[in-house]
Parts: sequence; structure tokens; C-alpha cells
Amino acid sequence: MAAGKKLFLFDIDGTLLLTGRAGEHALRLGLKERFGIEDDLSGISFAGSTDGAIARQMFGAHDIPVTPENLADLFDGYVHHLAHELPQREGRVLPGIVELLDALHAREDCVLGLLTGNIEKGAELKLSHYGVWDYFEFGAFADDHVDRNQLGPVAHARAVERHGITFEGRDVYVLGDTPKDIACARAAGFVAVAIATGGYTVGELAAHEPDHLFESLADTRGVMAELLGEAGAAA
Ligand SMILES: [Mg+2]
Repeated sequence: MAAGKKLFLFDIDGTLLLTGRAGEHALRLGLKERFGIEDDLSGISFAGSTDGAIARQMFGAHDIPVTPENLADLFDGYVHHLAHELPQREGRVLPGIVELLDALHAREDCVLGLLTGNIEKGAELKLSHYGVWDYFEFGAFADDHVDRNQLGPVAHARAVERHGITFEGRDVYVLGDTPKDIACARAAGFVAVAIATGGYTVGELAAHEPDHLFESLADTRGVMAELLGEAGAAA
């Protein structure tokens, strides 16, 4: 049985939850506090990007050198402000997420991890605030690589390390709300599961040909049946 385990790697923003843009506000405040620069960040592409890639866009717009020190300074300010922003913004866990995580968590043949563009500390703050951090055993984060497409193998390696078994590419599901999540799954040879609960519609995501496409994850039985087959739905 062990060889047949499935690995589910979840994106955070737009997939598990919405934070009412707490992350963007925290980045804006971090930039202002640590670098004395006011920027509404309207020129920044957030969806599906890693925090490292977003920081590089921000630095590029203001001629701030991309150094480890400057990145650490920005993220330190970001994390500080994120903790204050999360309770002030109207965010929420998306429909069906808790039920789906409960259903997957209850199965011995399913492993849950994160594959996210968030830095780990930001991911922990967001998921803890909404009560879903403890579902995930491990993750691949922006701390691991600036390029999201490099994060699939990192997450896979952590799963292998923890469970002492390998996971076939067809048994690794990357769940996300943007074309970049689909590309990330493709880059690693994993299964792309797109959900239109973030900034992209079903039609926009369909153009990138994910393996599975859902309007939302609200229908727990339907999602389990499609991803795990009929036996999965019955279990
Ligand atoms: Mg997302």
C-alpha cells in the first residue's frame, strides 16, 4: 500500500484562503518602514509569484539593490506588519477547504503539504490565523527558491524524506489558482489541479489545460471522487 500513496501540494492565496490583501498591505508597509519608500504596489504582479520574485519587482521599481540583507530587511518588516494586518482585513478560508483537508487528512494513503510562493513565516502566519496550519506536514516555500517552477521537486524531496517512500509524478497533485501553479505542476511532471477561487476564471485557467479544473473545492465528495476515483469518494 505504501507505494500507492498520493501527495497533495496546496497553494495558499486564492486556493486555501483569501486574506483581504493583508499580504500586499504588509509588503507596502514593510517597504515604507524599512526603505522609506511609498508605493501602492499597483505595478506589481502578485498572482502565483513567489515572495522573492515580488520583492525583486519592488526593488527593481525603486533601484534598491537585490542583496540578501535588503531581502531579509523587507521580509522582516513584512512579517511584522502581516501579523497586525491579518486580523484587520476581511479574509476567509475558501468554501469546502476545511472539509476537504479533513477528508484527505483522515486517509492513510494521502499526504498533505504546501507548495507556495509565500515565505515560510508568512505562510505560517496566514494559515495559523485561519486555523489550517496544522493540516500540513511540510512545505516548499519562497525561502527555497525565487522561481516557483523549482519548488515542486523541493516539496517532493521533503515528502520522500519524511515518509521514506517515493511518490510517482501521477500521484502528486499541485493545487493552485493561477496559470503559474499549472506551469509549476507541469515543470515537475506532477498533476495540475486548477481552482477558480483566486484571480482567474474557469475559462482563463482552462486555456492552460490543467489536468483537473474546479470552480471551487466546495463539493468535497465530488472533488474526492474526481481526484481519487470512486473508491476514494466511498472511503
Ligand atoms: Mg495562489
